[in-house]
Amino acid sequence: MQYDVIVIGSGPGGYVGAIRSAQLGKKVAIVEKYDTLGGTCLNVGCIPSKALLDSSEHYHHAVTRFTEHGIETSDVKINMKQMISRKNDVVNQTCKGIEFLMKKNKIDVYIGQGSFMSQNIIAIESASGRKEIKGKQIIIATGSKPIVPDVFHYDKNRVITSTEALNIDEVPKKMVIVGGGVIGLELGSVFARLGTSVDVVEFMDSILPTMDSDCGKELMRSLKKLGMTFYLSHSVTGVTATKTGCTVNVQKRDSDKNFDIKADYCLVAIGRKAYTDGLNLEAAGITVDDKGRINVNEHLETTVSGIFAIGDVIKGAMLAHKAEEEGIFVAEYIAGEKPHIDYNLIPGVVYTWPEVAAVGKTEEELKASGIPYKSGKFPFKALGRARASMDTEGFVKVLADKNTDEVLGVHMVGPRVADVIMEAVALMEFRASAEDMSRISHPHPTYTEAVKEAALAATGNRALHI
Ligand code: FAD
Ligand code: NAD
Repeated sequence: MQYDVIVIGSGPGGYVGAIRSAQLGKKVAIVEKYDTLGGTCLNVGCIPSKALLDSSEHYHHAVTRFTEHGIETSDVKINMKQMISRKNDVVNQTCKGIEFLMKKNKIDVYIGQGSFMSQNIIAIESASGRKEIKGKQIIIATGSKPIVPDVFHYDKNRVITSTEALNIDEVPKKMVIVGGGVIGLELGSVFARLGTSVDVVEFMDSILPTMDSDCGKELMRSLKKLGMTFYLSHSVTGVTATKTGCTVNVQKRDSDKNFDIKADYCLVAIGRKAYTDGLNLEAAGITVDDKGRINVNEHLETTVSGIFAIGDVIKGAMLAHKAEEEGIFVAEYIAGEKPHIDYNLIPGVVYTWPEVAAVGKTEEELKASGIPYKSGKFPFKALGRARASMDTEGFVKVLADKNTDEVLGVHMVGPRVADVIMEAVALMEFRASAEDMSRISHPHPTYTEAVKEAALAATGNRALHI
């Protein structure tokens, strides 16, 4: 079979790239090695983690906040099996939705492991046999897998990654999480809210070390109140597991002091690596960098003309919306259009409570590059909307160029900031100034008023409610 475009991998990069190519009149095939479409994001990432974050948040509110709201409940119990079953339903519905979209856009779906035979022939191996298809252009969107060094003795039973953590169907008593990054804090929140004693071991001296440092500090205060314990500047040197538990050896950085923590589970969340196993990249002459990521140029074209790579398998943030933008970019580039991605404006969100959201430069990045800036900060506790919902933790921080007033970065910790951040992304796309941001009418009472107030503060101490 001959196609204009073959996409390998059906995650948010691959399936979106396939749809956009089909919209642009191409004959498209998508190859996926698992039985369900949607990749990491839909099956074992974004969607199931958010389903459990929502369920655990409802439970946590019921036991910690309802009384203050004047709602009397008795005997609130967790039915973990039902929680997991609802999560699975959400995943199934979402993945089925991708199947529908493939049919709607007349995209041929091949289930099986794809590998290069040459620069334009892809072999597909599955239980039902082997096929070969030919493509004028090929898009590699094979995603990433968790990093788990051998010393952790990953057994998928007691030493686990996010994939297994999303299916634990009883509330563990104790969990050690290696890595205070996005996965560690989101899944750590799920279990801490349900009553698990959660210890986070983070190698750096703050959680979320790549985000603006104010965000990590603020979030850590909230997560400590939730009962989570943090070992910053510590790393795990090894884990030993039995059938029913594990012992995690923890060492202080730059010291030989170490101690053991016994737990039901050790969740390893220290990052993910590009996944190219079985692709047989050599047959096409495609190269990877020192981290195993496929090398691409500014058009996301690999070292071989006509073969592109997108999403987690190349450099950059490992985010579903980044992969999607790249899928659209490549489809449009192949069709002769002139697409553009501003990587500086890809927002990052952590779905803890309070949530964390950011776009643009951090204060540390501005300092390091010597850009003169001014900063305005507004705390949620000064906002009527936040007091009404009892969600007063966090802040919005606006960073603007000292000379031109252009907004350079916006960083937030607080209620629903995962949604609120879009105002900053949109304004920065149009290169708005802090003054522009501060003069837009924001509905009252909403969490978005904190953005206006922070922008007012950035334009010279003009915040109205502090
Ligand atoms: P993937 O989604 O990884 O898809 C790659 C697909 O390729 C897979 O289905 C794989 O089976 C298939 N494949 C691989 N090799 C082959 C082959 N040889 N032949 C055929 N098929 C192959 N990001 C966010 O933006 N927001 C979030 O809230 C979020 N939450 C997350 C929570 C967790 C627990 C995890 C693990 C990740 C989360 N992410 C989140 C990250 C997000 O899931 C990834 O950035 C995103 O899925 C990357 O998309 P992709 O298309 O590049 O690859
Ligand atoms: P991460 O890079 O976000 O965090 C890993 C953390 O582990 C870092 O803070 C790092 O300093 C620490 N670390 C590394 N080695 C360590 C060691 N030996 N001991 C202790 N700490 C160590 O990675 P992640 O949390 O595994 O997530 C992987 C990817 O998935 C991320 O790139 C993220 O973008 C994506 N993701 C995104 C979302 C979201 O957008 N909400 C949610 C989950 C995952």
